[in-house]
Formats: sequence, structure tokens, C-alpha cells
Amino acid sequence: HKSTVIITGASSGVGLYAANALAKRGWHVIMACRNLEKTEAAAQTVGIPKDSYTIIHIDLGSLDSVRKFVQDFRATGRSLDALVCNAAIYMPLIKEPLFSPDGYELSVATNHLGHFLLCNLMLEDLKKASTSEPRLVILGTVTHNPNELGGKIPPRPDLGDLKGFEAGFKAPHTMIDGKKFEPVKAYKDSKVCNVLTMRELHRRYHESTGITFSSLYPGCVATTALFRNHYPLFQKLFPVFQKYITGGFVSEELAGERVADVVADPAYNQSGIYWSWGNRQKKDGKSFVQKVSNEASDDAKAEKMWDFSAKLVGLA
Ligand code: NDP
Repeated sequence: HKSTVIITGASSGVGLYAANALAKRGWHVIMACRNLEKTEAAAQTVGIPKDSYTIIHIDLGSLDSVRKFVQDFRATGRSLDALVCNAAIYMPLIKEPLFSPDGYELSVATNHLGHFLLCNLMLEDLKKASTSEPRLVILGTVTHNPNELGGKIPPRPDLGDLKGFEAGFKAPHTMIDGKKFEPVKAYKDSKVCNVLTMRELHRRYHESTGITFSSLYPGCVATTALFRNHYPLFQKLFPVFQKYITGGFVSEELAGERVADVVADPAYNQSGIYWSWGNRQKKDGKSFVQKVSNEASDDAKAEKMWDFSAKLVGLA
């Protein structure tokens, strides 16, 4: 019997290589993606065996699509042993916000709200996992944390008092803190929400469900398509900068293995934890439990974020 993992955004980058790594470890991978043909081609390119994956459509920017995905997954009859929330968009150069079909700013809608709904709905599935120790993993990032070198570059994330969420998060409210639209900050804010969501899931559900909730920062994977919307010169120099200056560069393969470890390795069975790797670019770099940013460790903020998000996705 194979264990089953759902990975969002498995058509490229970290998600694709995590899918490959887990397939190699004997898992069946549900590739939850918005572009079916691209995903099929990507799976074949990295050589995931045909019988090790199933592709199911999801557009994380659309709440209806997230709900439809859950139905489609349940229709496969598989039990769910792990969920990896990995998909994300980053659009540093846009001047005006883009909006999801639900009317929410698109990067927060995709990276946070879609995953927030997915996690909440799929708790039911994880509770019925075929393994004794189901896991839910959400990708974090160094840029969520201004205490780290990689997180110091402005603009810094700041959810403030979540005034934008409180006001319903529809235009003219395009930032969680209710302030002026800033696309880089919107991405960082969404990643703070990812970490807060993981910690709040742990606080609410770990004891009662036995599900292990965790996040990780696999290192800077400067070659993925995440930077496709940046200046061409940035795309060229960023990997070089990460490799030789910050030393944070990791390959997509290594990042994928790290995600697979957090999903499947018995050593990563702690809940409420954010994993990071020392000596990030080295294959034998050791993982450790890292303290998250001040904002991402604020329990009162986590609860507020949870309540507003639940309203925005129609759960409350
Ligand atoms: P990529 O851009 O390579 O992959 C992002 C994935 O998300 C793609 O599969 C993309 O699909 C998918 N996606 C985007 N929007 C949607 C949507 N609306 N619905 C469904 N899927 C969607 O990025 P990375 O692999 O670099 O990033 C993956 C994760 O790792 C992110 O959470 C990111 O924050 C995190 N991370 C990345 C780091 C890095 O240095 N690259 C560092 C730290 C964390 P499509 O192929 O169709 O575009």
C-alpha cells in the first residue's frame, strides 16, 4: 500500500522536485496544479513513473476551484497521508494590484487564502489517513523574517492590525494592513500568513488529531520560475549573488529532497515547527528548528489572522 501526498504547484520548481523525491520514496503524488498539460510535461521531463502520480486541477486563486479540487480528490477514493502547500506567485514589478475571481488581491489570495481554505477542508481527510502520523507542510521563506540577513531587504512584511482583512479585503483594500499596494510586501505578508497558519493549525488541532503541522525554508532556490516576473537582469544575477555572496543557494533537487524529508522522514515528526538548514547550499547541511520572526510567532496575531481569513474564505 502506497501513502498519498498532495502537493500544490507541483508543475515547477520546488514542488516538482518534491513530487519526484516522494515518488522515489514510494509515495503516490497528487500533483495539484492549474495547468494540466504543463504539469504532465514536467512530470515526464523529471521522469516520475506514470503510476506514481495523478494530476488534479486546482487554481488556488479561486475559492470555488479549491472546493472543487477537494471534491475531485475525494472522488479518487484515496486516503490522504500528507498535504504540501507549496504553490505561490511573486510579482515584484506590477504597479497595480491584480484581483482573484473572489475580488481579493491575487498574491495573498493565491499564496495564503486558497491554501488556508484547502488546509481547513482537508483536515477531515488527514484525520482519516492510512498512516498513523499524517503531516501538513506549508512552505515558508527567509523573507518572512527580518531577523535574518535574507529578510532584511525592504520592504519588510507587516500585517499591522490587519485592517485590510478586517475591512473585507476588496478594492480599495489591497494590503492586509490596509495600506497602499506594494507587490513585494504583499508576497512577504502572504508568507507570514503561511507561517501563522501553520502555527495556529498546530495550536488548534495537533493534540486532538495527531496531525503534524510544519513549515520549512529549504534555502534560496534562485533558479525557479518564482522569479519569472522579475527584471531579466535580476533573474541572471540573483543565482550568482546567492551562490557566491550570501551562500544561500540550493538546487531545485536539494530543495525537493528537503521537502520530502519534512513530509516523510521520521526525524521530522515534531509539530508546530519551522525547519531550516545550516550551511544551506551543502547537501550534508544539517537541519535545525528555527525561531520564526517576531510577527510570525505572535499568537494573538495568529488568532486574528485566522478569524479574518475564515470569514474571507467563507468558513465563518
Ligand atoms: P515556482 O514559480 O517554480 O513554482 C510555483 C508553483 O506554484 C508553480 O507550479 C505554479 O504553477 C504554481 N502556482 C502559481 N499560482 C497558482 C495558482 N493560482 N494555482 C495553482 N498553482 C499555482 O516557485 P518555487 O518553486 O520557487 O516556489 C515554491 C514555494 O517555495 C513557494 O511557496 C515559495 O514561496 C517557496 N520558496 C521559494 C524560494 C525560492 O528561492 N525559490 C525560497 C523559499 C521559499 P504554474 O507552473 O502553472 O505557474
